[in-house]
Amino acid sequence: MPPNKLYIGGITYRIAEIERLLADDGRRKLSGNIRYDECEIRIEAGMDVQSTRQIIWHEVLHGILTQAGHCDAIKEQIIDALAYGIVDVLKQNPWLRAKGEQSNPTPATGESIG
Ligand SMILES: [Zn+2]
Repeated sequence: MPPNKLYIGGITYRIAEIERLLADDGRRKLSGNIRYDECEIRIEAGMDVQSTRQIIWHEVLHGILTQAGHCDAIKEQIIDALAYGIVDVLKQNPWLRAKGEQSNPTPATGESIG
């Protein structure tokens, strides 16, 4: 189960796990969605943690782009590709994950960031 809140661009979003998450039309099945007015990210309940991470990253990217005024500029396939890519890069490169409040993180390998 993921944490129950997430911060995106100064906004706190609740994370809600929903059984049988549906689109607003009440018919189309979703794995996740972001509700800006309610400050809520909804995800399908009971997914594997790997799928949960990818879906949450997908919704985070929607949130970041929407806050930047580009909500419709990026296609769903690109958002999905970025979400899978971020999950993989963070998994393969744990040093990229910030720990605590580091203001000047140094890679564990001693390599410089260029
Ligand atoms: Zn989407």
